[in-house]
Amino acid sequence: VELKARIGVGMRTLELQHRLNIANEMLAYKAEHDELTGLRNRASLIERLETEIERSRRTGEGIAIGICDIDYFKKVNDTYGHPVGDRVLKEFAERMRESFRPYDLLARYGGEKFFVCCTTNEISVETIFERFRENIDSHSFLANDLGLDISVSVGIRTYKGELSQESTRNVLLDLISDADTALYRAKNNGRNRIEIAEHEEMTPEQRTSQRLA
Ligand code: GH3
Ligand code: MG
Repeated sequence: VELKARIGVGMRTLELQHRLNIANEMLAYKAEHDELTGLRNRASLIERLETEIERSRRTGEGIAIGICDIDYFKKVNDTYGHPVGDRVLKEFAERMRESFRPYDLLARYGGEKFFVCCTTNEISVETIFERFRENIDSHSFLANDLGLDISVSVGIRTYKGELSQESTRNVLLDLISDADTALYRAKNNGRNRIEIAEHEEMTPEQRTSQRLA
């Protein structure tokens, strides 16, 4: 009888431990992912980008960071309402997953701004991101309902281990800043396009003051 009782207690303890593990895994997942789209959130994006930069520094493998911003998204909200805007964002994230590889880093930075980080050794950066832009441009969003035409502008910065004397965090800030400058160029040049940052978009003095800001 005592043995049975002890086994019973042991089994219940194991069961509770198992449930606790699952709950912890769910919490960890929630902390790293955006609730609406299921993509990585900003905090985990930054952490992962730093890892990618460090890897590129060690191996010399090329990476590309792309900032993707939906064009005229405010119009979608203004015309159809916020819930429709949310559905478009979800569908946009699905198209992103389709366009890139499972091991590429995809994240929602905030609002209608998304990040991609992928390696660039096999195919050219233009090919990778043009395919994505075209995928969004040709897709009919909420097809059974509204059939919305959406386009995306992308600013891209490539990296191959340079700026080696800088800290990883500073390199990351510079890469994001350059990609953002390229994104604004894409917007100003008519949207629905990709722009690749010229290296050294900023002077060293501008970089320092931007980091301090
Ligand atoms: P541009 O082509 O210059 O990028 O124009 P835009 O309209 O896309 O950019 P703008 O920054 O003017 O508007 C972004 C809009 O995105 C405004 C904001 O209400 C909306 N937005 C941000 N986050 C969310 C969200 O989680 N859900 C919905 N539905 N809308 C959001
Ligand atoms: Mg936008």
